[in-house]
Amino acid sequence: MAFDIQKILRPHIRNIKPYSSARDEYSGHDGVFLDANENPYGSLTGEAFNRYPDPYQQEIKSKLAVIKGVSPKQIFLGNGSDEAIDLLMRAFCRPGIDNIILLPPTYGMYEVSASINDIAIKKVNLTEDFQIRPKEILAATDENTKIIFVCSPNNPSGNKMKREAIREILVGFEGLVVVDEAYIDFSDEESFTTELANYPNLLVMQTFSKAWGLANLRIGMAFASEEIIRILNLIKPPYNISGLTQEKVLASLEKADAISKVVKTILEEREHLQKDLEGLPFVKKIYPSHANFLLVKVPDAKKMYDDLVSSKIIVRDRSKVILCEDCLRITVGTREENEAFLNSFKKLAGQSLN
Ligand SMILES: *Cc1c(COP(=O)(O)O)cnc(C)c1O
Repeated sequence: MAFDIQKILRPHIRNIKPYSSARDEYSGHDGVFLDANENPYGSLTGEAFNRYPDPYQQEIKSKLAVIKGVSPKQIFLGNGSDEAIDLLMRAFCRPGIDNIILLPPTYGMYEVSASINDIAIKKVNLTEDFQIRPKEILAATDENTKIIFVCSPNNPSGNKMKREAIREILVGFEGLVVVDEAYIDFSDEESFTTELANYPNLLVMQTFSKAWGLANLRIGMAFASEEIIRILNLIKPPYNISGLTQEKVLASLEKADAISKVVKTILEEREHLQKDLEGLPFVKKIYPSHANFLLVKVPDAKKMYDDLVSSKIIVRDRSKVILCEDCLRITVGTREENEAFLNSFKKLAGQSLN
């Protein structure tokens, strides 16, 4: 397949001249900086927040490139994955004309972002066991379909998608295939970043919000061909990642080796939580998880959710989501948090059974 990114790019984006920031025009570190209208005296708290940050986050990218086995030019960093999702819509989808394909039940932001941008949505539901249906997905595409979003491991179901099925979409579709790997660190599946060279229409999203424990900083990653990354950089807000965030992410990357230990602990806790839930007669089903949460089917999810909230235990009620009827999504917490959840859960179920 001769994939040409220029063919799916919105025509006006081709001619855009990006904002040229002071730090674009002079990127050296030494000198008397009188070019960006910054306050030379610093901030009121005495911290060094008065200078604009690196617009392309070069230090993070050079470290991340080694960890992920890609080139720094294949990395885009956004204000959360949400920013990358929005920029993709704006780069490739013409409002009122183009469409994207979503595979429910899945992450809600794709639909929100498409709706904000006036992009039509086509839905091809997952199977009962939450697998993608490549033939149906490809059949649903038309000449205005620009992006297919595949989430693996999937939120809210927790399972990973069959690799061959994702490959089938990558080969059969002439638009962009986004593989959202927000939960990949919790899975034994290899990241699709290793296949970027094989598929010019592939974009892989990951995030610092889950395994890395940095949800508060708002930083997400996108990996793709240099050409696709260049387009995202062209249309992003100039200083989209704050200097404070960059500093903290860099410090975390220095300790990247420790991530496997945190992940191992969370996976052990997930196992523990699952075993306990399996022993409960009112739990109808626990779906297999490759993520840091469990999707659990119970007799009356809405009531169970409300009752848990009354005991100050907050889970996610997914019962209104297609194929997730009467399901709660439970994030794996610390041992103490999981015990607190289980205690309330057992107590409430005992009451409602009587
Ligand atoms: C949590 C999550 C993200 C992360 O979003 P951020 O904006 O990076 O915090 C992305 N995709 C999915 C499917 C998620 O569940």
